[in-house]
Amino acid sequence: MIQPFAVSGVPNILFGEDRFAELAALAGRFGRRLLIVTGGKSFRESPQWVQLLADLRAAGLHFAEMKVDTEPSPQLVDAAVAAQRGTGIDVVVGIGGGSVLDAAKAIAGLLPHGNSVMDHLEGVGPELPYRGPSTPYLAVPTTAGTGSEATKNAVLSVRGPGGFKKSFRHDCLVPRYAIVDPVLLKSCPPELIAANGMDALTQLLESYVSTRASPFTDALALSGLMAVREGLLPWYEQGPDAGAPRTALAYAALLSGITLAQTGLGSVHGLASPIGACFPIPHGVVCGTLVAMATAVNITALERRAPSHPALAKYACAGRLLSGNGTLPDADARGRLIDTLADWTQRLALPQLSAYGVTAEDFEVIVAGCRGSSMKTNPVVLEDSEIRGILQART
Ligand code: NAD
Repeated sequence: MIQPFAVSGVPNILFGEDRFAELAALAGRFGRRLLIVTGGKSFRESPQWVQLLADLRAAGLHFAEMKVDTEPSPQLVDAAVAAQRGTGIDVVVGIGGGSVLDAAKAIAGLLPHGNSVMDHLEGVGPELPYRGPSTPYLAVPTTAGTGSEATKNAVLSVRGPGGFKKSFRHDCLVPRYAIVDPVLLKSCPPELIAANGMDALTQLLESYVSTRASPFTDALALSGLMAVREGLLPWYEQGPDAGAPRTALAYAALLSGITLAQTGLGSVHGLASPIGACFPIPHGVVCGTLVAMATAVNITALERRAPSHPALAKYACAGRLLSGNGTLPDADARGRLIDTLADWTQRLALPQLSAYGVTAEDFEVIVAGCRGSSMKTNPVVLEDSEIRGILQART
């Protein structure tokens, strides 16, 4: 029987090759003055940037611009809001990877209000309720991984001792439109494809087995996982011109954002928070390097402590789907899931955590900091020793 569930806001979505050409006209529906947030380089060197400038000019739209070339901090967001507030921005447009999309999302959220984003970050500061409204926000991803174009949170980090990686989250922050154009992914180098693809895969798998999953999110998660199977290794191995696999990953990432916003995530993202706060490791690399071992630990813990838990059947289903063997019995399929994830981790050359300076001495701090929001929807409550085991295997 289908249990009650709720679905919160999903953006309007324009998906497919060359949909980017619709951006200027779409932005013009919200007003005459835009704030355009991009990354440092790749998009601005593309023909799409030249075209966008021409389209904006032709439409008589004015714009301020801003570059974000690192994972965003609260200071970056506050400074941008201070600089742009009162300049009459009608719509914010973010074009870039998850860092750009999250920065633009947080800026759009605070432009009408002007207070510090620190007031609202989860788990740090006063956690004052945010009530909106946000400035209308249009999100255009240039990486296929985070799904930020479809989520209601912006991840902000302060790195180093006492650092954190936390979300500013509210339904009002969901972009009005997500324009997902796989052509914008053509410049992604292989290591970015690998890390982002594993981020999307992790988000889909964690959504699928989340304690808050529903038949609605399950359908989307399975569709996204199928697209990951079809696209990830072919895109990585065949290169940027492989159009069909690139499009499959753009789709998978979008779906991963939709599902994670409904269900929350799991232990991999629980760990990504303290690891990302302490070490300069790209978010997708953390996810990709941990997902196989974290899945193995979840499955073992469930088999021991909750052998009839529905997540076990779901892990089996994901194993059949990702391995392409639809006839495997459940226990074998779960083993095949772990083997497939481990095989992809190796073929995609995802580095160990130690490559970024993580040592066993850091485990205590990481374990102490991993029980925030994502860990709360992991299908099983992991013991500290099990979490240390995940880290040990990838350090
Ligand atoms: P990123 O945005 O940090 O970009 C990584 C690098 O790739 C940058 O140097 C960027 O300039 C470059 N790049 C981006 N697009 C490119 C392209 N088309 N061609 C060549 N280079 C390109 O990386 P990301 O993995 O997309 O985003 C990571 C951030 O997203 C992290 O801060 C993470 O916490 C956050 N995140 C947010 C959500 C959410 O729901 N809001 C979900 C997952 C992750």
